Amino acid sequence: MKWSFKIAKVAGTEVRIHLTFFILLLLVAMQGMSGGQGTAGAVDALLFVSAAFLCVLLHEFGHVFAARGYGIHTPDITLLPIGGVARLERMPRKPSHEFVVAICGPLVNVAIAAAIKLALGLQMVMNPEYQFEQPGHFWEKLMLWNLIMVAFNMIPAFPMDGGRVLRAFLAMFTDYGRATRWAATLGQGIALTVALWMLFSREFHPVLLLISFFIFMAAGQEAAAVTQEEATRGLRVRDAMLTDFRTLPQDATLGDAVVLLLAGSQQDFPMLDERGNILGLVTRNRLVSALSENGPMHPAVHVLESCPDSLSPIISLGEGLERLRSITCPAMPVLDPVSRKLVGLLTAENVGEVLMVRAALRGRKET
Ligand SMILES: [Zn+2]
Repeated sequence: MKWSFKIAKVAGTEVRIHLTFFILLLLVAMQGMSGGQGTAGAVDALLFVSAAFLCVLLHEFGHVFAARGYGIHTPDITLLPIGGVARLERMPRKPSHEFVVAICGPLVNVAIAAAIKLALGLQMVMNPEYQFEQPGHFWEKLMLWNLIMVAFNMIPAFPMDGGRVLRAFLAMFTDYGRATRWAATLGQGIALTVALWMLFSREFHPVLLLISFFIFMAAGQEAAAVTQEEATRGLRVRDAMLTDFRTLPQDATLGDAVVLLLAGSQQDFPMLDERGNILGLVTRNRLVSALSENGPMHPAVHVLESCPDSLSPIISLGEGLERLRSITCPAMPVLDPVSRKLVGLLTAENVGEVLMVRAALRGRKET
């Protein structure tokens, strides 16, 4: 993650702190200062926040160690002002495994809260004068913080742990894709309800609104990613690439490109040099705007869009789509891994058609 730096490495997992975290510490110290106790107040406040975030870190290590148990790499944990993020190489696909990985975070907080409660109970037995549950007591506050963390994380919405627990639970009864879509819909419903409640009750909490928005988006992304993964499973780039396409020579004019554009449904034309190596793409958008500016005799090579990336036909379609999405070019050249010659074009449109056909054939098989 950008703007974060490493503070420790525990059992192979880096612990990183995001720079914005220090803004939080500063704000907390200032608030503690203004409480009337001066520096002592600031130190108290900082001590509590540090302890609270230590609990966040332990929560993340709960996920990390559970994931390790299933052979999943866990490169780092980053502490942000809004909480911790443990990066797992992947989420386990088996529902029971996902359930364990998701639940182990909140369980750590349950364990901490229980340990504090037990310690306070023991103290009360040993010292009957001790005032249990006096307001503002450090350990009581920390216990409450851990319970709040459990409640918050168990909200059944992605990317909260509760969303993953729910998906894992649903996936035991239905397929993974449907379980994800149901869990995501519930998460979006909760986020929307909270936002609407704020609107109608006129109680505006900017942080809560931000969290609702974040949950709404994350749930949608999770569902879309799983749907795409399901649709493209087992397919390679060569199964979905455009193989019947026209190309332009290096000396083509804008007029030549227009002829090709009007002759068929292809929108973006690879330009090849005399040896057949790809130089770039003449895209429809650039072609149309250059045509009105420069006229049809203008060399097309001047409006060439260079392709920052190319694909091999044998990589998975999921990876190909991800790389296509990461560039601004509307099409990605597919090159033969040995000869480096252009063998196809990957476009979102063509992939969409391939997936549609596949879904139709699958539907036929089921009936
Ligand atoms: Zn968690």
